[in-house]
Amino acid sequence: MHVSTPSFMRRAPLAAVSILALLAAAPARAQSAKKAPPGDWRTPAEASDYRTTPRYAETIAYARRIAAAAPRQARLETFGRTGEGRELMVVVLSKDGVFDPAALHRSGRPIVLVQNAIHAGEMDGKDASLALMRDIVVTKRKAALLDRAVLVVILIYNADGHERVSAYNRINQNGPQETGWRTQARNLNLNRDYLKADAPETRAFLRLWNRWLPDLFVDTHVTDGADFQYDTTYGIDTGPDVFPSLAEWKRSVLAPWLERSVGAAGHVICEYINLKDDTDPSKGITIAQDPPRFSTGYVNLQNRPAVLLETHMLKDYRTRVTGSYEFLRAILEIANRDAGRLIEMNRAADAATVAAGKRRDAGELQPLRLESDGTTEPFAYRGFKSSIARSDISGARRVEYTKEPIEITVPRETRLKVTLSIAQPSAYIVPAQWTTVIDVLQAHGLRLRRTARAWEGEVETYRCEGAAWHPRPFEGHQVMFNPGEGGARSNASPGACAPIHERQAFPAGSVVVPLDQRAARVAIHLLEPQAPDSLVAWGFFNAIFERKEYAEPYVMEKLGHDMLANDPKLKEEFENRLREDQDFDASPEARLEFFYRRSPWWDPRLGLYPVGRLATLEGVPLVR
Ligand SMILES: [Zn+2]
Repeated sequence: MHVSTPSFMRRAPLAAVSILALLAAAPARAQSAKKAPPGDWRTPAEASDYRTTPRYAETIAYARRIAAAAPRQARLETFGRTGEGRELMVVVLSKDGVFDPAALHRSGRPIVLVQNAIHAGEMDGKDASLALMRDIVVTKRKAALLDRAVLVVILIYNADGHERVSAYNRINQNGPQETGWRTQARNLNLNRDYLKADAPETRAFLRLWNRWLPDLFVDTHVTDGADFQYDTTYGIDTGPDVFPSLAEWKRSVLAPWLERSVGAAGHVICEYINLKDDTDPSKGITIAQDPPRFSTGYVNLQNRPAVLLETHMLKDYRTRVTGSYEFLRAILEIANRDAGRLIEMNRAADAATVAAGKRRDAGELQPLRLESDGTTEPFAYRGFKSSIARSDISGARRVEYTKEPIEITVPRETRLKVTLSIAQPSAYIVPAQWTTVIDVLQAHGLRLRRTARAWEGEVETYRCEGAAWHPRPFEGHQVMFNPGEGGARSNASPGACAPIHERQAFPAGSVVVPLDQRAARVAIHLLEPQAPDSLVAWGFFNAIFERKEYAEPYVMEKLGHDMLANDPKLKEEFENRLREDQDFDASPEARLEFFYRRSPWWDPRLGLYPVGRLATLEGVPLVR
């Protein structure tokens, strides 16, 4: 539905006018969907000379046209519904009409999953995918891309956001004339939702993921950030590199191939650029962990290589779509060329994960948090000449770019180091009453067991102290990490969680998550409180940090006197504290709480993480 602008708003805001003048692209209503004459296989974006991108209905119609023209090689499938009820669609391309994932896995054919328009203002990959699919199965110019590989394309992942159309949705971006919106209909950013899985779109993605279990994943975007010459940038180092062969393949085979192949097609490509200082590229390029709230971080936990494609926002739409096209073409070429190796590495990663879950001695160490180790390499950065001036608008330094190319050598960070890892248990046990947590575990398709009856036993767990929450909601949650400007990559920890051994009771129907399964690292990142996107960090367990009983001061008064009279050591501790801690001395509440905390009335479950780490499943009464 197009909402017409009310008359009092018809004058475009000033900022928009100047940006549009700068970009020399006047906004116009997207062309209405015209039926292409038979034989005209131009995509809607091509037919508009890259001025527009097709709406949802026109996009699906073009995909249906491809499937109708090549029914033995192309098929549309629905994999879920959005919040507003739109069908989520994939197109599957397979050279011989085998569309069954299990049969494809058996025959050693790599499955490549391309996800487009998760941020629906960034739809370059969608228009590139339409053209590429046409060239593979209709014009057959690129038919060889299906020699071994099978292509599964999510055309428009954020379909509701895609239909929230405006010329004013992407202030930094140079076309097309109108685009969709970043978030889905409940204003959730799907690219922060992979682990917590709140959105119906994410739930659908997880079902799709488990149905196809792809061998290689690509997520297509458009950048924000600095201006530079590169039109096509990519990311490969996304999370813990626990499988050296996969890491080595991404670094030594995939990345050089993408640069060579996409570069040879006339595009300026390099690895994703995150400047330390957007006004001064000479300070260098930094790297950070993609925690699993992001697609790439999540796919890493699923033991599969993930590739991020980010075209540059200020390049014209034709350049960005054709760059995306060449990038996806190059991905498919290497998936065909390295098919056997890719499948073998993925299988080995799964087998290693299962084996780690079976070990009964000291638990395998799993990295949870990473940061740059500071190592840099010189990088020939192709930027634009810029100048710095004092802004009379912001009062800060402002950068003004020219279009004069420069090349300078800057330090580029190259390595992440593990800053926190944990020894994994055999299994986790989640009490039956934590239904929202169990629901998320189920959504990820993890293999779960249930307890047949109530069970009490010693488990390892955590007691968390000093938890603090970010003052503003983030993605609809009261989170324990600092989401940072733009809600991106801050990894602050949810307080200190000290490991403890504790006898705990688990009711019948509690859920046991064994770690001898291929997606065990997903469970570890959900259930280890200190992981960057743990359910604790996202606030799913906030209630355990709430104090529920309070002592009246006159009751504590008597208790305090009794405790001091009966315990000389406590008396000494109290008096020392009064002397040494002025805040304590000055706070009646803190002084009374000193006694409450040391009394048997204090709630022993306050801050106690209810999920247990099991060293063994022996003795746990599981449903057969
Ligand atoms: Zn994006």
